[in-house]
Amino acid sequence: MVSTEKLAPLLENLMESLPESYSVVDREMITHAYHFAEAAHAGQKRASGEPYITHCVAVAMILAEMSVQPIVVVAALLHDTVEDTSVTLADIRREFGDEVAKLVDGVTKLTKLPHVSRADGIGDNGMEFEEPADQARKDRRRDLVNETLRKTFLAMGEDIRVVLIKLADRLHNMRTLGYLPEPKRKRIAQETMDIFAPLANRLGIWQIKWELEDLSFRYINPEKYREIAQNLAETRVERERQMKEIIERLQKIVKDASISAQITGRSKHIYSIYRKMMDKQKPFEQVRDIRGVRLIVPDIPSCYAVLGIIHTHWRPMPSEFDDYIAAPKDNFYQSLHTAVIYDDGRPLEVQIRTPEMDENAEFGIAAHWRYKEKGPRDEQYEQRINWLKKLMDWRQDVEDANEFVDGMKTDVFQDRVYVFTPRGDIIDLPAGSTPIDFAYHVHTEIGNRCRGAKINGKLVTLDYVLKTGDQVEILAAKRGGPSRDWLNPNLGLVRTQRARSKIRAWFKHQNREQNLSQGKVIIERELRRLGLLNLDIDKLATDFDYRSTDDFYVAIGTGDLSLGHVINTISENLKKETDVLAVKPAAPVKEITGNEVAVLGLKGILTTFAKCCHPAPGDQIVGYITRGRGATIHRSDCPNILRMKDRERIVKVTWGEPQNTFPVDIQIKAYDRQGLMGDISNILNNENINLKDIKLNVTHNLATIVLIVEVSDIVQLSRTLTLIENLPNVMEAHRLNPG
Ligand code: MN
Repeated sequence: MVSTEKLAPLLENLMESLPESYSVVDREMITHAYHFAEAAHAGQKRASGEPYITHCVAVAMILAEMSVQPIVVVAALLHDTVEDTSVTLADIRREFGDEVAKLVDGVTKLTKLPHVSRADGIGDNGMEFEEPADQARKDRRRDLVNETLRKTFLAMGEDIRVVLIKLADRLHNMRTLGYLPEPKRKRIAQETMDIFAPLANRLGIWQIKWELEDLSFRYINPEKYREIAQNLAETRVERERQMKEIIERLQKIVKDASISAQITGRSKHIYSIYRKMMDKQKPFEQVRDIRGVRLIVPDIPSCYAVLGIIHTHWRPMPSEFDDYIAAPKDNFYQSLHTAVIYDDGRPLEVQIRTPEMDENAEFGIAAHWRYKEKGPRDEQYEQRINWLKKLMDWRQDVEDANEFVDGMKTDVFQDRVYVFTPRGDIIDLPAGSTPIDFAYHVHTEIGNRCRGAKINGKLVTLDYVLKTGDQVEILAAKRGGPSRDWLNPNLGLVRTQRARSKIRAWFKHQNREQNLSQGKVIIERELRRLGLLNLDIDKLATDFDYRSTDDFYVAIGTGDLSLGHVINTISENLKKETDVLAVKPAAPVKEITGNEVAVLGLKGILTTFAKCCHPAPGDQIVGYITRGRGATIHRSDCPNILRMKDRERIVKVTWGEPQNTFPVDIQIKAYDRQGLMGDISNILNNENINLKDIKLNVTHNLATIVLIVEVSDIVQLSRTLTLIENLPNVMEAHRLNPG
């Protein structure tokens, strides 16, 4: 029996940290792993001067406290043996079996590439990186670091337990970061803040997340960290006295309602205080006043009951209430949040949740192993695993490590929206995602064939930005592929890297002939649209370094070279020449009324200044189109304007500064519909484009609209034409040839 031996203090600590549920056999295996690792690392030291085994035990203890499976603790003890000692994977397999060997191998693989192996720079027995001497080497270093991260995430898809070990490893390395030299600390801290803390957050492991954040913050911004820590220390006694009082008060109130609750004051994390100071632009004195308590009650009905009780005792603060029980956060976090004005007139933040929710909140994905019985927790676990698998599924295709990390940052770590499929399944997307992103998320084929979408039963345009709670139904064609417009960033049709890769992949798989002819059609059509018929395409191809004009077409066809990029270059070239748009610049803006300053946006229309608000130059202003009397200019905060019901008659105007703009004639062909002109003038308004003249001709429902507008360059012209063409019912919009 283990307990009869006289244990080394390290091993003793470890054994005491193990969950009670571990069997005698488990404990023996862990003891064996300890001795094995200690022997393997004998003689090695950490940067702190301590024996290396202290690190292995610390990592194992972090995991044991999360009540992971015993086998994970075993693997944690051994996690650096294959990498740093003469022990081989075969040795581990022989001593501890296949599963442990697999886990250790997973962790080793994450760190195995030469140089990258210790991209985290720690635990390397004090060995130093040579600092890169020049930019090229710096870039290479960055590539290598990103490659490590890519490996981390790939491994994560295979076995989440490997990532838990990696996170625990990182956490202990962060705890001992102070022993490393200064420049290294900052870099590692930044990487932890950028990647590992958000990763822990995504896995819902709050315990690791906040500590990683605080430790990183300490090295990234030492002055601020010290300032907040000091402030906290100075106010501690008073804070603790208050908190004790609040908890006693709450305890009584809840008890009177015969609900048993475990009430604790919430500990303050320095980084979260800092975030609050930044978000609310408030000094520490105001932020530290925000006190928090957590009530853990037996079941969900009690959660709402307690919420009601608290709201009847103290006035709730509007907009501070969140029901994450009914609508869990994207990392499956559940709780009720509210804030009330406490007796002393200052805010008190309250969290209410069940014990199960609390465990989930603290341990996230690792909560799965904390109980033997099956339950809703397993469903969540499955959901999390599926999320990770999906993430990996397209990530395997991305070869470039930098693109991978960029994608990771946009796709994973930004705010998320939750939307529903028609069947009620929840889909989790980055904020700003569109129906096309949704379609590609559901299935590549659905994405490719997506032609329209309904949100909550209503048809929307494909640039609709999804909101949490939306139910999304994709209208798909029977066959066909994506539109090249989807890759046009002007249109904002696609938000996620994942959808973009899939769209590009679709075009890549078309054959060269098809891409060539498509590319040719695209470029020729665009030049025609912009009235640039005489442009030398062969020269353009050479400008872009393509060997032949055909290669240039193919690149456009596959989407490797974006039309936007081409238009930009053409525009730059044209600006270098004198005759920018092959037309004369517009005459400087004339005064409209007797006033000193002109108003842009409404030229040719009689303009008067409103008597109610007397706008003066420099005010934010809007124009209101009156019946028969031209337009009246109001301040945009004028109460009369704010109260106005006919919002469509309000147009954007600005105080005029003569600008370098150029008049061009645009012809639009469309099937006439209600609101078409309104939509077009919205686009012009948003682009700040002056409309000088308009001619409208409708025959048999077919409208031909000719606009004279003033644009600043052809990039703006191209963008505007595209936006107009994407309005419902519009068939084409192009520039009439200058003549
Ligand atoms: Mn390690």
